[in-house]
Amino acid sequence: MNLDLSDKTALITGGTRGIGRSMVETLAQAGARVAFTYRSSAEEAESLKAELESQGYECLSFQSDVADFAAAEKTVKDVLDAWGKIDVLVNNAGITKDGLMIRMTEGDWDAVIGTNLKGVFNFSKAVYRPMMKQRSGKIINISSVVGVMGNPGQANYAASKAGIIGFSKSLAKELGSRGVTVNVVAPGYVATDMTAALSEKAQEAMLGAVPLGRPASPQDVANAVLFLSSSYSDYVTGHVLHVDGGLAM
Ligand code: NAD
Repeated sequence: MNLDLSDKTALITGGTRGIGRSMVETLAQAGARVAFTYRSSAEEAESLKAELESQGYECLSFQSDVADFAAAEKTVKDVLDAWGKIDVLVNNAGITKDGLMIRMTEGDWDAVIGTNLKGVFNFSKAVYRPMMKQRSGKIINISSVVGVMGNPGQANYAASKAGIIGFSKSLAKELGSRGVTVNVVAPGYVATDMTAALSEKAQEAMLGAVPLGRPASPQDVANAVLFLSSSYSDYVTGHVLHVDGGLAM
């Protein structure tokens, strides 16, 4: 029993940058064969794959929009064809389209729910049967502190991230008897491109409320994902692991 993921395979959505990229690198360093998806950043995907392969890690990358049900099925099939099994699925891909409700459009709502929540459904559905059959598997869904606490200007994002928590707990109950665990990681304020887009004022306000007094690094979140991918978490399911420096308490 350890954090060693040798002989394990992992599929991570949205792996080319930010938190996803850190997860790809961390699980590969722990010994897993890692497949990751991207929506449009083919160049970054190629360079990440090349970087991992140059270090001797086995890696696959797929252009696959998480919001596309058929594409998710095809991606999972491709990974299964290549490696025969998927031990770990990390549903990481996510977007924001922020705005107070008065200005939020139907398109902003649909895009965020379609990517963040339906994307989690699509990939979970695609691995559901294979993981059930192999009687093992770990599904890790990336929510957010915003899904727990709410945030003005992020009603669509908060709804998608809160939805992920209810979805994951339901799936944990469905799949427990098959040896499959389903857990959630809820990061707080992480220094990535996503938060760099926030105003300086919003960034300061968020940081001011963090007891640990600093933003999370992508590595902080990847470490939690490594724990939930490993046998150390075998008796943990339906859990929401807050990686937020104490923000949501
Ligand atoms: P990011 O914007 O840096 O990266 C998001 C990744 O998802 C990118 O690689 C992007 O290409 C990919 N992606 C987006 N839409 C996609 C789609 N339709 N299909 C496939 N891939 C798609 O964001 P990040 O900060 O690294 O966030 C990663 C996850 O963590 C997201 O789910 C986000 O909501 C969550 N999160 C982030 C923070 C934060 O402070 N940065 C906090 C809490 C939760």
